[in-house]
Amino acid sequence: MKGPSLQSIFHYACFNLALKPFLNRPGDGRMQPEIPASNLAWALVLGALLRLNSANRLEWLVRSADRTALGLERSFGDDALAYFTERLDPDVIRRCLVATLKLAKCNKVFDETAFLGLALDGTGAGRTTQAACRLCHPVKDAQGRVTSRIHQFVMISVVGAGITLPFDIEPCQPGDSEYGAGKRLLKRAVNQLGPRFADYAVADAKFATAPFLHTAEAAGIPIVARLKSNLPELSAAVESRFGCRPPQTTFMFGEDRIEVWDADDFDPWENLDWPTVRVLRYQQHKPNGTVIQADWLTNFSLARLGTRTFFKLAKSRWEIENQGFNEGKNLYGMEHIQHHHPNSLLVNWLFLLLALMIERLYRNRYLHRGTHPVLTAMQLKDTLWLNLRPAHADSS
Ligand SMILES: [Zn+2]
Repeated sequence: MKGPSLQSIFHYACFNLALKPFLNRPGDGRMQPEIPASNLAWALVLGALLRLNSANRLEWLVRSADRTALGLERSFGDDALAYFTERLDPDVIRRCLVATLKLAKCNKVFDETAFLGLALDGTGAGRTTQAACRLCHPVKDAQGRVTSRIHQFVMISVVGAGITLPFDIEPCQPGDSEYGAGKRLLKRAVNQLGPRFADYAVADAKFATAPFLHTAEAAGIPIVARLKSNLPELSAAVESRFGCRPPQTTFMFGEDRIEVWDADDFDPWENLDWPTVRVLRYQQHKPNGTVIQADWLTNFSLARLGTRTFFKLAKSRWEIENQGFNEGKNLYGMEHIQHHHPNSLLVNWLFLLLALMIERLYRNRYLHRGTHPVLTAMQLKDTLWLNLRPAHADSS
């Protein structure tokens, strides 16, 4: 097999993932474009694949490397990228991400599981001291002075199916709450994916609010959410019930011993219109003696979801934290602002998710077919760099 290269990924994206129509028509809003949208759209994907982290470096690469190897026809500057991303319709990329997920499901990319999940979580990225844009949230010091600004958003990802694929982002608008952005995001995701795509949604305690849980219920997706002290009455009821009882079940989770308590007849808090609330408490005993305790709530019935599976679903939330935000920020440049404009920020994040999706499917499923080992993300990125040639090699 020929080694992995950007050309091979480009071919895989265009034909195996059927992204060619999207790359040709990515929602370009420019009036009289000189540089084809397909070049700029693919450049944004390859910028994330090669982890360039900035529009300046992307401009440098496009001018310095053999463009055939990059899968590009034209060179362009960072100003062309800025102009392009300011005007691109983010909903076109969103629909493309969803279509790619649906194709992946048809192609049996996900592990055989009775519970395919959607995890939501919020984060901040793109810290800046420049003049504020519409999506800037002030960061204040202890004296209440604004020291910098940050952009907050909620992301959603497929989890619990052997491969973590984040696929949409909703920015927090001024005066917005994280769960408000989460409501819009979950509604859009279930609407676009269809009601049978995912079996549950999982979220942190910030989303355990009646309006968010009602949105999930209206969208027809069962929800698993962390229960913390932001719901004092329910937390107190759980503590008084489970705190003095021995665990119902104990099982092993890797090297850790897990003790669980599970009951489905807690009273809902004032604003929640569920008849009752089911709560799982687990204590995770690590071999070094550390004990982690957490409570989770759900509207899954005991008949539909066993206690051990409830535990597994709760744990799947970590995927958006680890393979979503941590890898997105530490490896793929989610933290960096390429162009400080509200639409450009969103478009760049969505292209980053598309690059992640292409990279993970290519590396974990396509390259891994037969007896080929799975490359790490780092090995793949290094190989892609090694297979590039300088631009002057072009003419031969
Ligand atoms: Zn801003």
